[in-house]
Amino acid sequence: MGVMMVKVYPTPTIGVLSTGDELTEPTTTLLGRGQIRDSNGSMILAAAVQQQCNVVDLGIARDDEEELERILNTALSAGINILLTSGGVSMGDRDFVKPLLAKRGTVFFSKVLMKPGKPLTFAEINTKSVDGIVQSILAFGLPGNPVSCLVSFHLFVVPTIRQLAGWENPHLSRVQARLHQAIKPDPVRPEFHRAIIRWEVNDGSGNPGGHWSQSSSRLLSMKSANALLELPATVGVISAGTAVSAIIISDLSSNAICNSSSSSDSTSAFRGSTLKEVAANNSQNAEVSVAVLTVSDTVASGAGPDRSGPRAVSVINSSSERLGGARVVATTVVPDEVTQIQDVLRRWSDIDKMDLILTLGGTGFTPRDVTPEATKEVIEKETPGLLHVMMQESLKVTPFAMLSRSAAGIRGSSLIINMPGNPNAVAECVEALLPALKHALKQIKGDKREKHPRHVPHAQAAPVDIWEQSYKLASGGDKEHGCSCSH
Ligand code: AMP
Ligand code: MG
Repeated sequence: MGVMMVKVYPTPTIGVLSTGDELTEPTTTLLGRGQIRDSNGSMILAAAVQQQCNVVDLGIARDDEEELERILNTALSAGINILLTSGGVSMGDRDFVKPLLAKRGTVFFSKVLMKPGKPLTFAEINTKSVDGIVQSILAFGLPGNPVSCLVSFHLFVVPTIRQLAGWENPHLSRVQARLHQAIKPDPVRPEFHRAIIRWEVNDGSGNPGGHWSQSSSRLLSMKSANALLELPATVGVISAGTAVSAIIISDLSSNAICNSSSSSDSTSAFRGSTLKEVAANNSQNAEVSVAVLTVSDTVASGAGPDRSGPRAVSVINSSSERLGGARVVATTVVPDEVTQIQDVLRRWSDIDKMDLILTLGGTGFTPRDVTPEATKEVIEKETPGLLHVMMQESLKVTPFAMLSRSAAGIRGSSLIINMPGNPNAVAECVEALLPALKHALKQIKGDKREKHPRHVPHAQAAPVDIWEQSYKLASGGDKEHGCSCSH
C-alpha cells in the first residue's frame, strides 16, 4: 500500500516479586512450620507471559524493610516497565511494600473498594537509567492472597499492559450474561465473581455447574474461569436468570466447543508449576519454549540495565516461526557466579524442560567470565558445530569474536547455548543458527513427540456475530465438561 512507516511499540517488560517471610520456592518438597510455597510468583509470571510481555523473575523478598528496599532498587534499574509485587500491602506491621513505594515514588491509590483485591496499591516511580534518561515504572502492589492477586492483575494490570503496548482500546471486554444460579454478593464492596460463561444457541439444558467458594485465598475459584462477574454491592440476593455484566478475562472460544478436554487444558497452567506448561498450553500454542539467562554482575547488582536479555527475547520472538513456534517463556538475570548460573540452567532444563536455553554474557577473558565453565559442567553432550557457526559469523563483524570461549550442549531435552553479552552479537548469533536450530530442537526431542502428541490448539476466535447471541452462565463450576452448547 506504499505505507513504509508504521508505528510500533516495544513489548512491555514486567518484573515480578513475591514478598513474605512464609514463602519458599515452589519446588520445595517438605514445608517447614508456617511455610507456604510461593504460588503467586509462577502465577503472575505466567499471566504476564500470556499477555505477551517480557518477564523478569525477581524471586522472593523477605518481610524486611532493608532487604525489600535493596531488591526493589535492583528491580527498578533492571529495565522493567511494570513492577508487580505480591503480598505485604495489607495492614500488618511487617507489610513494607506500600511505604517503600511511597518512599520511591508517588502512590496514586491504595485500598480499593472491591472484593477481592482491596489492598491493591498503585504507584509511579521515576528512575534514571545509566545514560541519564528518566524512566517511569508503573508499580502495582498486588495483594498476597492468590485470588485477589490474580483478579487485581486482570482488572488493573492487563489494561495497563495493553495501554503500554499501544492498544487503541485497552479496556477489558464486557458482555451481558444471565446467571444460572442465585448469587449473594457483598453488601458493601462491589464484587468480582470468578465465573465460567458460555453461550447457548438453542436454549438447551445449560450446565449450571457447582458453586465454589469465592474466598480470596481459594485459587481453585479461578480454575477455568473465563470471566469476572461485575456485581454491584447489594443487600440480599441476585436471583438466577438476572443479566449481569461479565468482564472477559480469557479466550471465550475454548468454551464454544463442547470438547471435554478443552477448558481444562486451558487452565492447567494455573495448576501446574512450571512455566513450560504455561507456554505449551496457553501462550499461543508455543511449540518451542525458550528461556534467556542474562549473566552479568552489572545487571544483577542493578548498576546497569539489561540490554541483551530484551534483545534476545525480541530476536527469538520475531524468528518464532522459523524456530517452529518458539516463544520466550522465562528470563532471568544472575551475577557471574558458577553456582548461580548452574542453578538456573539445571532448573530450566530438569524441571521446566525448556527446549532452548540461551545464556548471554560472561564468555570473554576477564577474570569474572565463567559462563562457559558453569555450562560445561551442566551439559551432557557438547554441540561444537553451533559454536563454530557463531564464531564464523561473529568474525565477519569483529576480530574480537575470536576471544569468545562459549560452550554449547544438550542436557536432557534442553539445548543450552552460550552467547556473547553484546546485544548486537546476540542477534547475529541467533540469526546464524536459525537455518538449523529448528531441526536441532526437533532431533533432541527424538521420538518423544510421537508418544506425546502436541497440544490441540483451541478453536479459532469466535466470529464477531457470536457476541450477539445470548449468554448463559455457570458460576465457577467444576462440571464444565458436561456443557450442552451446540456449536
Ligand atoms: P499478605 O498481604 O502479605 O499478608 O498476604 C496475604 C495472604 O496471602 C497470606 O496468607 C500470605 O501467606 C498469602 N501469600 C502472600 N504471598 C503469597 C505468594 N507469593 N504465594 C502464595 N500465597 C501468598
Ligand atoms: Mg506477607
